[in-house]
Amino acid sequence: MPENLLTPESIAGAAYIVAALLFILSLAGLSKHESARSGVTYGIIGMAIALAATIWLTFAGGWGEPSVMVGLVLLIVAVIIGAAIGLWRARIVKMTGMPELIALLHSFVGLAAVIVGWNGALDPPALEGPLADIHHAEVFIGVFIGAVTFTGSVVAFLKLSARMKSAPLVLPGKNVLNLGALVVFVGLTVWYVMDSQLWLLIVVTALALALGWHLVASIGGGDMPVVVSMLNSYSGWAAAAAGFLLNNDLLIVTGALVGSSGAYLSYIMCKAMNRSFISVIAGGFGIEAPRKGDEDLGEHHEIQAQDAAELLKNASSVVITPGYGMAVAQAQYPVAELTQKLRERGIDVRFGIHPVAGRLPGHMNVLLAEAKVPYDIVEEMDEINDDLAETSVVLVIGANDTVNPAAAEDPGSPIAGMPVLRVWEADNVIVFKRSMASGYAGVPNPLFYRDNAQMLFGDAKQRVEDILKAF
Ligand code: NDP
Repeated sequence: MPENLLTPESIAGAAYIVAALLFILSLAGLSKHESARSGVTYGIIGMAIALAATIWLTFAGGWGEPSVMVGLVLLIVAVIIGAAIGLWRARIVKMTGMPELIALLHSFVGLAAVIVGWNGALDPPALEGPLADIHHAEVFIGVFIGAVTFTGSVVAFLKLSARMKSAPLVLPGKNVLNLGALVVFVGLTVWYVMDSQLWLLIVVTALALALGWHLVASIGGGDMPVVVSMLNSYSGWAAAAAGFLLNNDLLIVTGALVGSSGAYLSYIMCKAMNRSFISVIAGGFGIEAPRKGDEDLGEHHEIQAQDAAELLKNASSVVITPGYGMAVAQAQYPVAELTQKLRERGIDVRFGIHPVAGRLPGHMNVLLAEAKVPYDIVEEMDEINDDLAETSVVLVIGANDTVNPAAAEDPGSPIAGMPVLRVWEADNVIVFKRSMASGYAGVPNPLFYRDNAQMLFGDAKQRVEDILKAF
């Protein structure tokens, strides 16, 4: 092979292609339970190759030069500190805390894109004519997307970690404000490309920071899943924008993969939540419907574990619909044991999983897989909804919004139109929760007051264990 083909750029370029392929394999793997583990492995190997190639490319050609060596030492120190913090957080984070951690990580991507953009403006490459115009556009768009992602993700983090109220901020004419900000951004971009004055960059940074904050602050609790996946997509586009500025092909490819898969996830989420995808993209979503006051929903009925066990013993079919409370209580293990016991008695047991149950996409599937519940009895909401009317007993384990009949029956409800598991159609419903409190969206749940529904109060794990004892 001719020697001049083996330049640092060509070697790093080849490594980038391998890393990009591994990322694609990773995404493909992560789309199914069975292949998720290998998907994660592909991702780790791809990221290791990408990191090694980027470090090699940055320093190749300058080995031994003092300034390059100082840069290398700084980079190693930064990687060690970052990796140590990352490992520590990843080890201590609870599964229920994952969405807020992810939101925080998205904010870092946004911040990095803003810094890269500003760096591109303050230390511009020697370009002229159309190439300089393209560079200015990249800087401006990169800073905008990065800043929206940054503040949007910070607000999402605050809301998901309950440091900020999940109720939507309703400023007068909020949709006009959002669309107005987008129009101003387009106008400023054209201006900046024609005349790259720094004050324009300052204005767009402030505008984008405010827009990101407003976009997410205006979203009600029930719509947060869409926001999280949307910010995931934005963080991908922010990374891609940084990739253009840094002339790094892998960052562009990876950013585009994250951006488009996040957009697709948002689309799936929108369908699951019955929200318009276009209105989400335009930021014109959130809870517009007035919240209902504390109306009298009637009396609820209580049941004890012993009676619940009797009801289950006499059932011919049982459907379990888990929610966030199962994750909090870590009830998946006794739930798996109960499933096994019921199946041994010849009772048909299946799980019904709502697409936004818990606090992150696939949350319930992960917990059930952890507890070794067989995949073939875990069904999606659409697969199981029509069978609920023929089910003897539904066990609602720490779910609330995802089984709320108001979504289907009350057009005035803030969650009106969101598809839910129609558990109330079953012969009997047992709801495991600690109190009569509302779910994440803050909407009262009429299910608890239905004649065929009984409340089994207490920590879900303890109550399922009580039922197991009663068996
Ligand atoms: P909800 O958050 O609506 O309700 C969970 C219920 O669990 C609560 O009402 C709570 O009642 C109960 N609970 C909490 N801890 C325990 C415990 N230890 N034992 C028993 N029960 C417990 O859950 P769902 O899964 O039905 O709905 C998810 C909500 O989260 C939706 O509104 C969704 O939009 C939102 N969301 C989803 C995301 C996703 O990607 N999946 C991301 C962000 C938000 P009590 O306090 O009385 O025990």
